[in-house]
Amino acid sequence: MANKKTNGSADTFGAARRFSIGDRSYDIVDHTFDAVVVGAGGAGLRAVVGCSQAGLKTACISKVFPTRSHTVAAQGGIAASLGNMGEDNWRWHMYDSVKGSDWLGDQDAIEYLAREAPDAVYELEHWGVPFSRTESGEIYQRAFGGMTTQFGEGPAAQRTCAAADRTGHAILHTLYGQSLKHDAEFFIEYFALDLIMDDDGACRGLMAINLEDGTIHRFRAHKTILATGGYGRAYFSCTSAHTCTGDGNAMVLRAGLPLEDMEFVQFHPTGIYGAGCLITEGVRGEGGYLVNSEGDRFMERYAPSAKDLASRDVVSRAMTMEIRDGRGVGKEKDHIYLHLDHLGADLLNERLPGISESARIFAGVDVTREPIPVLPTVHYNMGGIPTNYMGEVISPKKGDPDAIVPGLMAAGEAACASVHGANRLGSNSLTDLVVFGRAAALRCAETVEAGAKHADLAHNAGEAAIARLDHFRHASGATPTAEMRRQMQRSMQDHCAVYRTGEVLKEGVVKIDGIWGSIDDISVTDRSLVWNSDLIETLEYDNLIAQAAVTIHGAVNRQESRGAHAREDFPDRDDKKWMVHTLAWADDAKHKIKLGDRPVHTWTMSNEVEYIKPKARVY
Ligand SMILES: Cc1cc2nc3c(=O)[nH]c(=O)nc-3n(C[C@H](O)[C@H](O)[C@H](O)COP(=O)(O)OP(=O)(O)OC[C@H]3O[C@@H](n4cnc5c(N)ncnc54)[C@H](O)[C@@H]3O)c2cc1C
Repeated sequence: MANKKTNGSADTFGAARRFSIGDRSYDIVDHTFDAVVVGAGGAGLRAVVGCSQAGLKTACISKVFPTRSHTVAAQGGIAASLGNMGEDNWRWHMYDSVKGSDWLGDQDAIEYLAREAPDAVYELEHWGVPFSRTESGEIYQRAFGGMTTQFGEGPAAQRTCAAADRTGHAILHTLYGQSLKHDAEFFIEYFALDLIMDDDGACRGLMAINLEDGTIHRFRAHKTILATGGYGRAYFSCTSAHTCTGDGNAMVLRAGLPLEDMEFVQFHPTGIYGAGCLITEGVRGEGGYLVNSEGDRFMERYAPSAKDLASRDVVSRAMTMEIRDGRGVGKEKDHIYLHLDHLGADLLNERLPGISESARIFAGVDVTREPIPVLPTVHYNMGGIPTNYMGEVISPKKGDPDAIVPGLMAAGEAACASVHGANRLGSNSLTDLVVFGRAAALRCAETVEAGAKHADLAHNAGEAAIARLDHFRHASGATPTAEMRRQMQRSMQDHCAVYRTGEVLKEGVVKIDGIWGSIDDISVTDRSLVWNSDLIETLEYDNLIAQAAVTIHGAVNRQESRGAHAREDFPDRDDKKWMVHTLAWADDAKHKIKLGDRPVHTWTMSNEVEYIKPKARVY
């Protein structure tokens, strides 16, 4: 039953609910669960497994079939200090992640990530993830950017556990298999619309539409876990799937809650020029390198010790500088070459088969003979829904910067725990998914009694979500959604990219606010509720534009350079003023952003490791 699409387990109590919006009415199907997880990527599925293992009645809602979630596309691997290919230690992993975060990460959460990572990987192995192997049969681990030994003093660490270059595929399919073993209920191809918040500020569940038949569903839950992934699609060129629209983030904004550190957007150095598809950092981990038009391995100048394996922000900036200085390759001199032809066909076939195929299809390149044309491309959102290391969502109150929002949790790329701070290290996201997906489930098990009675919902709970749906369903402006989305994506790409200046950002703010403000001019032509992709893309666009606004307002505001946020007008990191998390609230009706902040956690979780003091970040 669980792997089938289901309208299952509708509550049978009470009269069917109906909301009237103008002269139209919508029938509501009610459901009651202990925990509802939105998202079936790595984070969502790990949380689903954990909640159902703990005996909680659990639902998983996903707008795509679980194994189509973006996690399936992850290539290079998952970081954990197993030490299979040389000495390693979780404290070194923690140190590298703190440094990678440019001291914006919360160190208690980073300790948790690094410490739990090995167990999380062994758990995946035991559940069946087909990791690549060393000669002696252990999990194969490759080098990744910013991963070192001896607290940055030693050589590169081989810490990234890989299943060839299809690690996410292997992990997601295994997790889906595990989640079917338990009796979680899947609501597949259901699109979550909005949270249900009560008068006390607690989350009580959410509203969703079944894409296949247009029925509207109301889910009550003691805990709602948002695992809805990133919002790469706010930009024109990104490595993430078309479904990466940050719906959970936008639901949080509409609930009047803040998002954190949204100005930190990671550009991956090696997106295929033109197509934007990813070529994993694992390529450089296996010995690949970048060259400019003079055939110069320029990373040796920018990061003398880590070279091509410096962290992503550093490499993306170096590539941008080379292109700006006229040393880009190609007719327009606007990209860079990635060489792996020296690695030999055997290694490429064994360790990097997927990217060899991507390079052939999307760049027309035979990697055994030619370099791949690459360009920094939007890849990951460090910011998101603020949480503590147990996955509980945070919204500061007077006197308590870490006050939790009852009933609401988040994990994965949607969340900001914050383990990645201003810049995520490659292969730390897959770790984040399973470590914090599990942590969220453990916290649910601790705080929810299975089958506990639910307090009554307000009679109109969920009506606002239906009113929004109805509004866009009948939108009859002059601008098609695709055109508005293109304007937003172009503006973000032009005004909020690898390098930023106050002037260009300010122009971008005017553009994005203008596009946001003109949403009433949007035009939706299909009025049906059954597989209405025009309507769903419009709801996704509405989600994206609020996040674009939060991102660019945060970027103007932060007058320093830290991690992925590189201000040419403020080239230095300023710990005195800016070692704080940005918080941003959005007023959806007035199209206004309010900014605040929250202290960075400068303490660790245990006494087994010391707080890592800020210092200059060089590779
Ligand atoms: C091409 C690529 C390669 C990568 N390679 C690596 C790597 O090698 N190592 C690494 O550590 N990281 C890698 N990353 C990053 C990492 O894969 C992602 O950060 C991570 O997979 C995100 O997982 P998630 O579970 O948070 O969300 P996702 O996997 O994006 O899943 C989101 C889920 O939410 C659901 N959802 C969203 N909105 C709604 C809604 N409104 N209603 C219902 N359901 C909804 C979707 O259906 C989906 O199931 C890569 C990313 C990309 C794009």
